[in-house]
Amino acid sequence: MQTHYDVLVIGGGPGGTPAAMALAQAGKRVLLVERGAGLGGTCLFEGCIPSKIFRESARRLRELREAADFGLCLPTKDVCLDWLAIQQRKRNILQKRSQAAIARVEKIPSLDFIRGEARFLGPREVEIVPAEGDSCSVQFEQAIIATGSVPFRPPIPGSEHERVLDSEAILNIDHIPDELVIIGGGPIGVELGQIFHTFGSKVILLEAGPRILGPVDDELAGQLQQQMTADGIEIYMDCKVERIVHSGQSVYVEYCPANGEKQHQFADTVLVATGRRPNVAGLGLENTAIDHDTKGIRVDDTLQTSEPGIYAVGDVIGQPMFAHWATAQSLALARHLLQQHVKFPTPASNTAVIFSHPEIGIAGLDESQANTAGLTVDVARYDYRGDARAQISGHADGILKIVYERDTHKIVGIHVAVDNATTLMGEAALIIRSGLTLEALAAAIHPHPTLSESFALAARAALAQALLQKH
Ligand SMILES: Cc1cc2nc3c(=O)[nH]c(=O)nc-3n(C[C@H](O)[C@H](O)[C@H](O)COP(=O)(O)OP(=O)(O)OC[C@H]3O[C@@H](n4cnc5c(N)ncnc54)[C@H](O)[C@@H]3O)c2cc1C
Repeated sequence: MQTHYDVLVIGGGPGGTPAAMALAQAGKRVLLVERGAGLGGTCLFEGCIPSKIFRESARRLRELREAADFGLCLPTKDVCLDWLAIQQRKRNILQKRSQAAIARVEKIPSLDFIRGEARFLGPREVEIVPAEGDSCSVQFEQAIIATGSVPFRPPIPGSEHERVLDSEAILNIDHIPDELVIIGGGPIGVELGQIFHTFGSKVILLEAGPRILGPVDDELAGQLQQQMTADGIEIYMDCKVERIVHSGQSVYVEYCPANGEKQHQFADTVLVATGRRPNVAGLGLENTAIDHDTKGIRVDDTLQTSEPGIYAVGDVIGQPMFAHWATAQSLALARHLLQQHVKFPTPASNTAVIFSHPEIGIAGLDESQANTAGLTVDVARYDYRGDARAQISGHADGILKIVYERDTHKIVGIHVAVDNATTLMGEAALIIRSGLTLEALAAAIHPHPTLSESFALAARAALAQALLQKH
């Protein structure tokens, strides 16, 4: 390790690592500092990957339970769940992925990787406290802060108890809770709620707002909420959690739902999934001119902070908080620092997936966001109950909405809720990014019988409707 670098990158998650690699591959001398046990960030160790590993087990368990609907006779209905084996599978995948990431980084000669904690001493200097050995100071020309986010816990009295977990702790829980109360109906609360419900927990979800998944299209979120309720998950809206009371090893959650009558819910485990806050604690930002608040580090259109030469990407600059969004920013920033032409990612071209059942996929703007942006739009709709592939898969309840500009037919948003919606989102991202029209989508040959046909069918129906209105 040297004492002076062209670029210092703090944080080895999906925000930091891609930029560090791209800059070093282009010849810059880069130091990547990560304080965790390996490379991968929240996404690998406490987020996307472990939660989807659990979700995969839940999905397969549900399929086994539904086997009879598909004409399959299993020798027993009592499918057992081996929680320790699921946890071990998770650990194996995480370790493999982290080791592969470290191997990729170590292959690049001008990229140094150190496990340790970085703290700014000034606008061009950091102190690094390594996992092993003595601390040292390093100087740099430019820096990228990619320190991610941490779970946010509202100050609910009694929440400092070993049975009250955040989204990171529940991923390492040693048993399936009998009763799981989830505070917060955002993507993390919904995904984990459905997973543990499938595993056998009684799940009660308490949401402070009028519905789950606040930023998601109203109709899609409503459909998912109905499905969750039909499956047996209790959901309470406009709900204020007052306190958590301990009684031996158990806890009672006191809350006031919309009707105003105070309720108690006994719980084996409480999951607090009330969002995440940008992680700037201990970074020494006070030794720089970097401006930040509870929403995150402030950056300009080129992701530069208020301290010239220091940039920030990913969760640490606030919403939206997604791994692919952090990576898109990271790669765009690397190109910018290499003085290459770059179009920085904008929320209007972002995609997102909620790994619920049914899955929800979002690309670009919804109708109200498009209206707020001053666009005049129409919506092409498609009901999956008539869709061949959805009928074959056995879960045909679902909706597709394609938001397009009325005059040009340019597609500005795609919103879908259906089983396996995730498989559609790559195409959706490309459509939005390329600014395709309904005509282009309708003309593309989509293979039959696949869910992707729904895109072309919705586009054709909207074009036919537009023709009818014209004549
Ligand atoms: C339960 C859960 C499920 C999720 N599922 C998804 C999903 O399915 N899809 C999706 O796109 N997103 C998902 N996310 C969000 C995703 O994990 C984050 O958006 C993403 O990890 C952000 O990347 P990042 O690089 O900005 O930060 P992080 O991944 O948090 O990485 C930041 C890194 O910086 C390190 N660090 C912090 N401070 C210092 C310091 N001072 N010195 C050195 N190192 C430091 C941390 O150890 C960490 O490794 C999920 C999150 C959670 C919690």
